[in-house]
Amino acid sequence: MKKVELHLHLDGSLNLEYAKKLLGRDCKKEMCSTNSKNLKEYLEKFTLPIKLLQDEEAIETFAYLLGKELQEDEVIYAEVRFCPLFHIEKIPVDNVILAIIKGFEKVKNVKINLIFCMMRNFSFEKNLEIINLTQKYLGNHVVGIDLAGDEANFKTSDFEELFKIIRKKQIPYTIHAGEADGATSVMKAIEFGTKRIGHGVRSIEDSEVIKELKEKNITLEICPTSNINTHLYKTIKENPIDKLRRLGIKVTINTDNRTVSDTNLNKEYQLLSECFGYNENDFLEFNLNAIEAAFISKEEKEELKSKL
Ligand SMILES: [Zn+2]
Repeated sequence: MKKVELHLHLDGSLNLEYAKKLLGRDCKKEMCSTNSKNLKEYLEKFTLPIKLLQDEEAIETFAYLLGKELQEDEVIYAEVRFCPLFHIEKIPVDNVILAIIKGFEKVKNVKINLIFCMMRNFSFEKNLEIINLTQKYLGNHVVGIDLAGDEANFKTSDFEELFKIIRKKQIPYTIHAGEADGATSVMKAIEFGTKRIGHGVRSIEDSEVIKELKEKNITLEICPTSNINTHLYKTIKENPIDKLRRLGIKVTINTDNRTVSDTNLNKEYQLLSECFGYNENDFLEFNLNAIEAAFISKEEKEELKSKL
């Protein structure tokens, strides 16, 4: 079935064959986290991808190959995110962004937009630079901004000033929250006025947060396999996605990192269908939720809906 994906990282979704071609060795062990013992080991899987994404040809090719994978996964619209300042060891940041756009533009039948990630461990100034970059490219395949990274050690509450600036500039935004940190992190994100939350599964720990999510019609970008790889839950069954949905929260299904988690949306749908008995109608609802929350115009949303 046709699908929409809102939460997917470029660096965690690199084509293994092309990586092998560039490095002359098999990189599966270095880039897949399916056997990671802890969060530290999981995060180490991003080291090599960042090293590989430092020149235009590699960046453009990886973007193109990810687009092809989305196409094979029957994704008709995706918002792919990355942190532009991770890829500037050899080339200027504008070249990085333009190479990704060029790679995505070569893919047919999938509309792909970009979200730039601010990082929790970055300085205020560095994140401000990412805000300014987002503003510069907004409307040119770039549709929004995100806050990603170490949620346990860099609290959501520390980013109030940056989100004030983002709101003032009217840049659409989503925030990773309620993954490594609990429901209080989600509550902060809600206070910042977000309409979307990356993961957000730990909202289930606080009924007040659930109430807020529902009242403010906030959409959760849930990534089931990723939550297992980061040792948040042991099984898909433990994931609160079904509980959240029953409580009236808008949920969407995402991969987070296709290569790191060795997954795609087809696999995620399969796992959820085996675990919770979801059928095509349920997945249609999740995809409609994703379209509604996407950072695109009303007209584009209607067009996507007609394609589902
Ligand atoms: Zn993520």
